[in-house]
Amino acid sequence: MLKTLQRIVQEVNSARNLDETLSIIVRKVKRAMKTDVCSVYLFDNNSQRYILMDSVGLKKESIKQVSLSAGQGLVGYVGLREEPVNLDDATQHPNYVYFAETGEERFHSFLGVPIIHQRRILGVIVVQEQAKRRFDEGEEAFLITISAQLAGLLAHSLATGSSNRSDPRLSQIHGSCFRGVAGTSGIAIGTAVVVLPVANLESVPDRPAEDIEQEITQFNEALAAVRYDIHEVNRRLAQRLSEEERALFDAYQGMLDDSALGHEVNNKIREGNWAQGALCQVVTRHARFFELSEDDYLKERASDIRDLGRRVLGYLQKAEQQYIEYPSQAILVSQEVTPAMLGEIPKEKLVGLVSVQGSSNSHVAILARAMGIPAVMGTIDLPVAVLDGQQLIVDSYQGVVFNSPSDELLIQYGQLIQAEEKLLKGLEHIAGLPCETLDGHKIPLLVNTGLAQDITHSLNHGAEGVGLFRTEVPFMISERFPSESEQQKVYRAQLEAFYPQPVVMRTLDIGGDKALPYFPINEANPFLGWRGIRVTLDHPEVFLVQVRAMLRASEDLDNLQIMLPMVSNVPEVTETISLIERAWHELCQEGLNIQRPDIGVMIEVPGAIYQVAQIAKYVDFLSVGSNDLTQYLLAVDRNNPRVASLYSSFHPAVLAALNAIAEAAKQTDCRLGLCGELAGDPRGAILLMAMGYNSLSMNAVNLPRVKSAIRSLHRRDAVQLLDSVLNLETAEQVLEQISLTMEDLGLKQLLQPSLLD
Ligand code: PEP
Ligand code: MG
Repeated sequence: MLKTLQRIVQEVNSARNLDETLSIIVRKVKRAMKTDVCSVYLFDNNSQRYILMDSVGLKKESIKQVSLSAGQGLVGYVGLREEPVNLDDATQHPNYVYFAETGEERFHSFLGVPIIHQRRILGVIVVQEQAKRRFDEGEEAFLITISAQLAGLLAHSLATGSSNRSDPRLSQIHGSCFRGVAGTSGIAIGTAVVVLPVANLESVPDRPAEDIEQEITQFNEALAAVRYDIHEVNRRLAQRLSEEERALFDAYQGMLDDSALGHEVNNKIREGNWAQGALCQVVTRHARFFELSEDDYLKERASDIRDLGRRVLGYLQKAEQQYIEYPSQAILVSQEVTPAMLGEIPKEKLVGLVSVQGSSNSHVAILARAMGIPAVMGTIDLPVAVLDGQQLIVDSYQGVVFNSPSDELLIQYGQLIQAEEKLLKGLEHIAGLPCETLDGHKIPLLVNTGLAQDITHSLNHGAEGVGLFRTEVPFMISERFPSESEQQKVYRAQLEAFYPQPVVMRTLDIGGDKALPYFPINEANPFLGWRGIRVTLDHPEVFLVQVRAMLRASEDLDNLQIMLPMVSNVPEVTETISLIERAWHELCQEGLNIQRPDIGVMIEVPGAIYQVAQIAKYVDFLSVGSNDLTQYLLAVDRNNPRVASLYSSFHPAVLAALNAIAEAAKQTDCRLGLCGELAGDPRGAILLMAMGYNSLSMNAVNLPRVKSAIRSLHRRDAVQLLDSVLNLETAEQVLEQISLTMEDLGLKQLLQPSLLD
């Protein structure tokens, strides 16, 4: 059974459009369950109706003609109940509605299962038989399993433009919204430029060939280039491999033969598809054929043919690269945006980016942040292949992307962008003013940095220092561990730029989702694994080089502070302090004039909340990492778009923890700050100030808004607000309460722009 399931899913996976997806589903499910009928009805949001999209067993003429309103008939009933309905005689059910054009009067037994993706009903899959019998438990379980597995694929297929075109009645896709995770802040409206990853067969879109002869020439040249490459590889390996072992290359040459693959692709191009699309169609079809074989040898051939396809595609894409013309407001879209792609689009034309893969900590998201480009990462359902040239809205505050937005949405987002620009312009004058409440309570605002580009932004916005320098960023964009002197140069630039203000440098925080290409960590649960201080304590040789570079960089400036990430127990703190002090003593002995830097610990692991008093004995300051603290407290992966709606630092449990940390820190001599995203949201900043946090560190872009909020209220207003939210039950209630209060205080314009809250 599992094999059958896998095979159906695999086949559906390789379908190229919605019609093909549906056709595979109904045929394969009918065959696997040996029923008389299998049909799929899809729910159209606009008309609020279930449309019979495909069927084997019902009359052909009913397909795409029969539809039922929500709640109508047995299909509507399944949708309404959101659970399977299993009947031995459907005609006896009070909800039964008969459509003559389906010819379904012959079928008595009925099993309908809802197709649900991310809590949304996509449709209903139905199997029917002539005999009057209830489907048994096994059959019901099979259909539920297949429906659950297919829901994601179907959602993806539904979201493609081709599905739209093939059935205008399924119109909900226009203006559809795809969720990812926020990679930066900001909003962009522009035209999608889909950049293909190097030779990725899965994400090549179909496109009409503009010049068929030119496409054929390009394809034939690419084919010849690959033939030559294979010939060369074969020749080079001749010394090391026997003739039999090299037989594969002959097979490759055979597949590439003009009369085989080449011939088929040429035909597809002549039918109108461009060379890349034609190649992918042919390769995918052959590969699928081999994959479905029971014979292991033939199965292997599937990867051979894909490999060859990728090689040819690689050459075609090289030729294609030269022809890309970027629109003036380009939004870079790719399966996985790479830093190199970022570099290819002229700077003045790039307004946003969207990447299906990757997280807010991906290298490219970090670069986008530094460049001030709105980015949404991890848009797992985004139909990249069909987006090229479409209008997009990228809302990186909310981590969502809209394609082909309605005029109304465009106007609303246009207004948000304008309001945002106006607001920030209007706040420029406060850059040089202190961050204090109307009654004089001061709370310094610091910035989070990582790249050299961040420095200018930060200084322009009036930062009072750096509250978090993410030192892993220079490590992430390097090809090996940077040397001591290379690091020293980077650190010195930060320390000098902000001198005499403090710069808090966090020691290497790799692991989790922050990978170094040259130091891979493969773990089943990376966020609970070898991360942050755990890695550096196990590698003192790496750690000491970093600490020495920091200390050297601070000579004669003495504005360095060192912070430790991911601390979960006191010995980690004491051991690290010994290492730092050892390095400091050694450098002093070498004659350098360096003050011992203040040392602090990040509170970002739930266990540390309860050890604030003990940890505080050894350090000078504490800084809450609310991004990780929220993730660990709520058990919600901060980079997983599937659970993004559960991730909120305004969750009452998170606020209670933040408050408890503040209360505990007040009993110590330690200064307390917070450097997660919450600090950069005026709503969070107000609460944190009320709790007693001494400083807040955030992205430079958010700083003026936060400062303006704090400068516009009395501390008692903030304390009152805090009191009113601490006992609420949900994050939504908390946000609602804050919004009301900010409105009362005349601060509504400072709320982060959102059409979705
Ligand atoms: C945090 O966890 O809140 C934090 C500031 O660190 P990072 O986002 O780099 O993990
Ligand atoms: Mg963290």
